[in-house]
This record gives sequence, structure tokens and C-alpha cells, in this order.
Amino acid sequence: MDVVIVGSFMTDLMSYCTDFPEPGETVHGHKFKKSFGGKGANQCIMAQRLGGKTAMIGRVGDDGYGIEHLEHFKKHSVNVDHIYKTEKEQTGVANIIVNDKGQNCIVIVSAANLKLNENDLKAAEVVIKSAKVLVTQMEILPTTALAALKIAKKHGVKTILNVAPVPKALPDEIYKLVDYFCVNELEAASLWGNPVNSIEDANKSAKEFIHRGCSNVILTLGKMGSVFVTEAGINPIHIPAQEVKAVDSTGAGDAFVGSLAFYLATRPDLPVQEIIRRSNDIATASVLKPGTQDSYPYKKDLSHELF
Ligand code: ATP
Repeated sequence: MDVVIVGSFMTDLMSYCTDFPEPGETVHGHKFKKSFGGKGANQCIMAQRLGGKTAMIGRVGDDGYGIEHLEHFKKHSVNVDHIYKTEKEQTGVANIIVNDKGQNCIVIVSAANLKLNENDLKAAEVVIKSAKVLVTQMEILPTTALAALKIAKKHGVKTILNVAPVPKALPDEIYKLVDYFCVNELEAASLWGNPVNSIEDANKSAKEFIHRGCSNVILTLGKMGSVFVTEAGINPIHIPAQEVKAVDSTGAGDAFVGSLAFYLATRPDLPVQEIIRRSNDIATASVLKPGTQDSYPYKKDLSHELF
């Protein structure tokens, strides 16, 4: 196994409109789409589409959405041995509004995702042990993510933590279990306690996360690309993204994290800056098309120089 993802499934219910509604306002949308989402699922599909061998550990509900996710993952040849169906529970949903500028607002209802627990992880320990990289995020319980990181560390598996969305409380001990701590600028600001409005702010917040115990920090900054800081103490490195006309940035962060996991697992020979540059390029490709997973490229559609 290259990449094992411990994370969420969401069914994305996407409405496209010219401008976001104000509180109390109703606006007409011009398109609706239902699609596969959830940070964990997105990152898994991204890594798999790049040619990685992936396994997903997560929970769906006992409803139609859950069956659709399972079928979708089987079609992508993801290992589904540890995707559990949760009795009397719904599959997670994300209500997403995209405006004509390509910005988004999202409300998620995590439902079955919050039932993923330590016993599920213990049952999947053989798969975790066999992986090169484990990735987890915060659409599951932080305590479950923590347990996943602990199991990965026990077996010498590289870890990526994507603190998205930022939970009310993040266990202090989590930082030391993280090889690659990955957040966007809003998440960084929330965890750091100060605004992140510039590359300089991004550098400062990243250094703080290193101070809290993680080995490497990557901040994604939308069209400005990413910032990389390592515990080795070398100066922060800004890796710009290509300039493009974005159509829909929904899921760009997950495209980035899925790509990062893929490269760390399959190209450990590359310097991390180069891995980030390539992950930027793939995330940038995803903003050129509407949708979340629908916008993620396949290996066959990408330049061979990325592999
Ligand atoms: P989301 O929550 O929408 O999934 P995010 O806020 O977690 O996204 P971003 O920082 O917006 O993640 O984007 C992740 C990466 O995607 C960036 O580091 C960059 O490489 C690429 N990207 C995002 N937006 C753009 C853009 N407008 N132009 C070029 N690249 C982009």
C-alpha cells in the first residue's frame, strides 16, 4: 500500500449562484450538482488517480449515499476492506455554494464520520502498517485522528495531518506525531491565534507549529501557492502556484494533500520542495474545472514530467 487515508465521506450537494446570499436572503442558483466528497475521500481519490495504491478507512451511513460511495471507490480500485457501514446513521453531507468568482461557502454534517473509532483502526492495523504514508484530517473525531497517527508512528509510517476543518480542541500531543502538518491560511490563523495575510505571516505561523512539535509544515495559500518550513531550521520556502483563471477552487486543498501523500509515498527520492511544486501543479489543474473530485486529473491527462 502506498497511501492509507483515515477520514471522511461526504456527499456534496453543490449549488452554483452569481453571488452568495446574505443572511435571511434567498437567491436563485443557476445549477445544481450532487457529487462525491469528504476530505478523506477526496484525498484518497486524488492519490489513486495519480497511480498510487490506496486504502481508505472510514464510515458511511446505512443509506443510498453510502452505497454510492462504496461503488465509486470500488470502481477506482481503492482498497475498501475497512470502509464500515454504520447502522441507523446517515452518510455525511456537505452543502456547498459556489459563486461566479469561483469562491465557496460550505456547511458540513459529519454524521457517520463521527462514529469512526479506535476499534475500527485496530481492525485496520495491518493495512496501516503496510502503508508508506498515512493521511488524516478533522472531519472525523480528533481523538480518532490521534489514534490513527499513533498507530502509524508505531509502525514507522510517514504521517500527514491536514487540520481541516479546525476542531474546537486539538489534542496538544498530536503535533509531535506529525511528519507533515498541512493547513490553509485560515486554518493556520485559527490554530496560531493571529491573522495570516501574507507570506511573512505564513512563515511565522508555520514556525509556531514546528515549535509545537511537528517535523514539517506546509501552508497552502490558494493562488499564491504554498509555504514550506522544516524543523531543520532552514528559512521558510515559498513555492508559488502557476497563474491561471480559476473556475472553482472547491477541493483544491484536498487535491494538494492527496498529491502530497502520493509523491511522499512513491517518490521519496525527490526533495520536498519539488514534491510541493508538483502537488501545487496538480491542485492548480483542479481549479480549472468545476466540482470537487470531478475536477481531479488522472495520471494519463498530466505531463509525464510530473511523474
Ligand atoms: P479548499 O478548502 O477549497 O479545498 P484550501 O483553502 O484548503 O481549498 P487552497 O490553499 O485554496 O486550499 O489551495 C490549495 C492549493 O491549490 C494551493 O496551494 C495552490 O497550489 C492550488 N490553488 C488553489 N487556488 C488556486 C488558484 N486560484 N490558482 C492556482 N492555484 C491554486
